[in-house]
Amino acid sequence: MPTPPGKKKRSKDKYAQRESSTLSVRGVRDSARSVTKFSELYGGGETGRLLAGPHNNDRKIERLLQRRHKKSVARGIGPDGVYRYGDHEWKVPGGVRQCLKKSLIWGQVVNQYPWAVVWSGNDGRRKRKLFATAGGAVHFIATQAQYHDRHAAIVSRVVGYDIPIQYVNRIPRPWRWCPYCMTARRFRRHKDNLKFSAERKEWSNEKNRYVWRSRTLAVLVCERCGCTNKDPRMRRSNQPWEKRVIKQGVRRVRRRRS
Ligand SMILES: [Zn+2]
Repeated sequence: MPTPPGKKKRSKDKYAQRESSTLSVRGVRDSARSVTKFSELYGGGETGRLLAGPHNNDRKIERLLQRRHKKSVARGIGPDGVYRYGDHEWKVPGGVRQCLKKSLIWGQVVNQYPWAVVWSGNDGRRKRKLFATAGGAVHFIATQAQYHDRHAAIVSRVVGYDIPIQYVNRIPRPWRWCPYCMTARRFRRHKDNLKFSAERKEWSNEKNRYVWRSRTLAVLVCERCGCTNKDPRMRRSNQPWEKRVIKQGVRRVRRRRS
């Protein structure tokens, strides 16, 4: 486990200040309800962590939040995928970087904290901290969480991400793509040995290709974020994928009958 270089500052560092910084887009301040902080945009929903009514259909607010996401992700991550801040370094997993390149979907825009960091504290207990930006979460892992737990990880709380194409069929068992961890994870059987029914892609020797079959499956749980294989994104990301060769000049590809 790496040791933290230098003394960690308890107070907000420069980055944290930027995370809660004031909005600086012209027009937002002019709106009827003057807003100066990101946190003031929220307060809707039962938890008060959803975008508040007056901003709900505001395209300017959405653009602003999309830009904040993009900037927060790009900041500090080098072309080698390592996030650097002062003497701190953290290698951002490839899958995470791929997923974070995408724009936020609406469910993430309206949520004040679409991201979380999970790690085990020094006492061995699982900890979780919520973040407004993915960049903030990466920064927290790099500067703090990784020194308590080198497996500290960022989790998407709102949406799952499909497996990026370059990892398809490349994840060896018992690892599987976890849509919320945005990386390969070990999945374990649920402690109560739960089962459920779903369609699974299986190889048929008779037809010499994959076919979908209804099966009773054991519930598998991601050991980090708690995502299960009941999630359709998780299942489709981990099905065997095939390449179909389409001859040149073919305009319409017929669907295969199963
Ligand atoms: Zn997970």
